[in-house]
Amino acid sequence: MDKYPRLKTAVYFILIIVFIVGLSIIFTRIWGGKPEQPQKLNELIIDKEMTVEQFGQANELPNTVLKEVLELKVQSDLGKTLDEYGTPDQISSMVTKKLALASEHASKNWIKIPIKFGLWLFFLPTVFILLKNRTVTSGVRNWLLFTAILIFGVVMGSDPSPMGTVKDAIHLYGTTHAIFPPRMIALSIFLVIVFLANKYICAWGCQAGTLQELIFRINQTDKHKTVIGRQIKLPFALTNTVRCAFLCAFTFVAFSWGLDIIDPIDPFKIYNPMYLGLMGGGFIGILLLASLFVYRPWCHLFCPFGLVGWLVEKASLTRISVNYETCIACEKCATACPSTVMGAILRRDKTTIPDCFACYTCRDVCPTDSISFSSRKRTVSPSDHFNKRKRDKSI
Ligand code: SF4
Ligand code: SF4
Repeated sequence: MDKYPRLKTAVYFILIIVFIVGLSIIFTRIWGGKPEQPQKLNELIIDKEMTVEQFGQANELPNTVLKEVLELKVQSDLGKTLDEYGTPDQISSMVTKKLALASEHASKNWIKIPIKFGLWLFFLPTVFILLKNRTVTSGVRNWLLFTAILIFGVVMGSDPSPMGTVKDAIHLYGTTHAIFPPRMIALSIFLVIVFLANKYICAWGCQAGTLQELIFRINQTDKHKTVIGRQIKLPFALTNTVRCAFLCAFTFVAFSWGLDIIDPIDPFKIYNPMYLGLMGGGFIGILLLASLFVYRPWCHLFCPFGLVGWLVEKASLTRISVNYETCIACEKCATACPSTVMGAILRRDKTTIPDCFACYTCRDVCPTDSISFSSRKRTVSPSDHFNKRKRDKSI
């Protein structure tokens, strides 16, 4: 099939999707088929004249919930009217919060989650060491991405994910004003990883990110030439504007109408296909097709964690930096970078540095070993560094 690279890419693309969907269905069943999404809460029936007991019966609330929320002391408190415990709005809000948190708790698989974090904490440093030791060729890179997809997506499922921690936190707070503490812990872990090592969790640990990356890479030769069509780099000003607008729209809709506009098109659901509707399936198909030609379209255009992580990335301890003492301004790194980041780093002209997914491609192609992913401070290229090279070439 090496004689037919286009056919090879097309076959790999189809096989990857069929493999993911097929095996994910099996693993979802093995884990018990939890929806990993809390149930929708019905609006509460409440009237201040109701007794606590009537309120409980009208809404099928167990006495334990009433006892906890209203701090009932004795059995006879069930006969008191609701107005002794607050206004209907106050009581509704307290009960809704309590039910929302209980529903969140019930939707999670508490055996799987710590195992998944344990695997992340093992896998990410292992890849880091391999990359540091320069043992990652383009073939090995694809296998590492495939392994990440297999472990963190197919086997361990769509939840938790870096994106879910941000999206679901906003949605839950917008609809019930509740904060689910385990989610906050997960989000903090992901953000600490970004703080320590840039978008490393997105690069090698996120189920949706690694899938988009693998699809992008199978449409490239070892020399980073496109196999089918043309791979394009979208301007960061455009992608980030869309991403900010999308997050604002998501937040507005969640707070105003309690809807989750990402849910029907959530790309992480490819690992939970039983809960994927027609619209979601169609959207994911288009997204994955687009990933052949655009680097990580979901991450750049829509992902809430992508945006939050990009902000935290600015304070990251580890980042890509260039040693301009040895850099010969050939710009091979900027050409090979799947995004516009390396171009922005080199020029540091008025542009904001876009998301760097710590893929190490730039470092791998640098002929003078001038690029490092380290805690070294990122310096600005000397003025005229690149123009000088052009002048030298034309002499
Ligand atoms: S930005 Fe991409 S890789 Fe990072 S959490 Fe979002 S989908 Fe995953
Ligand atoms: S090629 Fe370099 S600059 Fe570009 S995304 Fe990868 S690590 Fe970041």
